[in-house]
Amino acid sequence: MKVVCVGRNYAKHARELKNSVPDEPILFIKPDSSILQKRNAFYIPPFSNDVHHEIELVVRINKMAKHVQKKFAHKYYDEIGLGIDFTARDLQTELKDKGLPWEKAKSFDGACVVGNFVRKSLFQNVQDVKFKLEKNGQAVQMGSSGDMIFDIDTLISVISRYFTLKIGDLIFTGTPEGVGPVKAGDKLVGFLEGEKNFSVNIK
Ligand code: ZN
Repeated sequence: MKVVCVGRNYAKHARELKNSVPDEPILFIKPDSSILQKRNAFYIPPFSNDVHHEIELVVRINKMAKHVQKKFAHKYYDEIGLGIDFTARDLQTELKDKGLPWEKAKSFDGACVVGNFVRKSLFQNVQDVKFKLEKNGQAVQMGSSGDMIFDIDTLISVISRYFTLKIGDLIFTGTPEGVGPVKAGDKLVGFLEGEKNFSVNIK
């Protein structure tokens, strides 16, 4: 399986990193080797001094998707979860400045935390799913699917033009503002519609 990630899908986050707001989704891929095994701690990799948390809504694909029209996209996922797209920001900035791909900064081992999935039918409104990340008990990031520049159906439609989505593939839908560094000893807890969804210790 693969994880397709969306960059700059919240206007305020694009601005906090001094990026322009895109007119087509920015896509990159994390391989399955980047997924942090459940209940494992996240170890800050030796090649970065500035790893950031990015809390994101995650969609799980339940049907093979290729060139899907937006109006049918809702049939291709039935679960929503939460995850962290860990990013070695110092390395990413260096790579971006050189015009090089971001994979070393985004797709390293352990860089993808995936929490629990909730059936789509249990959400009152998929267009307004609220989520939050707490660091050491303090809220650091809060968002809602309603604030996305490209909604879930648009993302499935655009992504499936480029990459066939297979059953079990995940889409990380982008992070809202409030990204920031983690250090050894921190504890991150994700909440989906007010319910604890995952926790991860930083080492
Ligand atoms: Zn991200």
